[in-house]
Amino acid sequence: MEIRIVPLSEGEKKAKFKDESQLGFGKIFTDRMLLIEWKVGQGWVDARIKKYEPFQLDPAALVLHYAQEIFEGLKAYRWKDGTIALFRPEMNARRFNHSADRLCMPEIPEELFVSGIEQLVAAEREWVPGAEGTSLYIRPAMIAVEPHVGIKPSDHYYFYVILSPVGAYYANGFNPVKIMVEDHYVRATPGGTGEAKTGGNYASSLKAGLEAKKKGFDQVLWLDGVHKRYIEEVGSMNMFFAYGDTIVTAPLEGSILNGITRDSVLTLAKSLNLKVEERRIDVNDLMADLKSGKITEAFGSGTAAVVTPVGTLSYAGDTVQVGNGGVGKYTQVLYDTLTGIQTGKIEDRFGWIRK
Ligand code: PMP
Repeated sequence: MEIRIVPLSEGEKKAKFKDESQLGFGKIFTDRMLLIEWKVGQGWVDARIKKYEPFQLDPAALVLHYAQEIFEGLKAYRWKDGTIALFRPEMNARRFNHSADRLCMPEIPEELFVSGIEQLVAAEREWVPGAEGTSLYIRPAMIAVEPHVGIKPSDHYYFYVILSPVGAYYANGFNPVKIMVEDHYVRATPGGTGEAKTGGNYASSLKAGLEAKKKGFDQVLWLDGVHKRYIEEVGSMNMFFAYGDTIVTAPLEGSILNGITRDSVLTLAKSLNLKVEERRIDVNDLMADLKSGKITEAFGSGTAAVVTPVGTLSYAGDTVQVGNGGVGKYTQVLYDTLTGIQTGKIEDRFGWIRK
């Protein structure tokens, strides 16, 4: 499908950031966006790269009432030699369509998803920051725009992509986070939408997040929704634990997000001759193994921060330190290797980079 480029006058362009160390996360957006519509009986129509501006949505638009919405998140990196690289965008396309299926939304051809992003990023290449740790965050989303009060799948959707230059997550070095295991609220249940990247999952997790912040924790770690016993994932990260040289994470059984960083960490760990296990982890065993020192490292994985060391974990009022509370050696190696591949400093032997 041809993507039309709607010309932008010089006057319509925004002033660019001057200091890349002040970028923060998700606050600045570039000049242009990609917009493609889907209409019943017509399919995908009118793909265009146009000015970034507000939508005019009917107040009865289905998304505003029944949350028929999905999204994705990935990054483009500017290498020292000027190359702009995407990291595994076809995985985001696949996961987006998986979410679309769960929310009864139309699937988008993977090539259109990826080539739309490539063309948008190429048009906005000047907005990709280059300082250490910075990147261009890419946010694809799909919303139901048909005006209709009454629950049904929409017959009109906007698929769109916006771009946000983002700063270094670890500007002052790794900062191990404090995690609270949530034993009251649950995020997902078997048969629910946990495996889909849909806004409702995040809206319903806000309360637990706020309560944990009040108690001094950075994020919550969710337990399974049936037994409240098995470790699932953090708000926007999958969780890993190192038992010596064995790296363990929860299995993909439908209630956690199939993280692209998670998959990359598992592949990398194997290539580094670490053992990997995808298995259920009982929170009681977890606490005992942290106390006895059997678990030597804990970290989260996700697009935003790549790898996040966990310094302390708390469950039912019991707080334990992970290892010595600092950054574990495998946590560091996995972070360095993954970010090295993303930024072109380490050769990509896995075919993950798309220039
Ligand atoms: N779990 C949840 C709930 C998330 O929102 C994210 C971020 N997309 C992740 C895990 C990590 O996924 P990824 O590595 O693809 O960013």
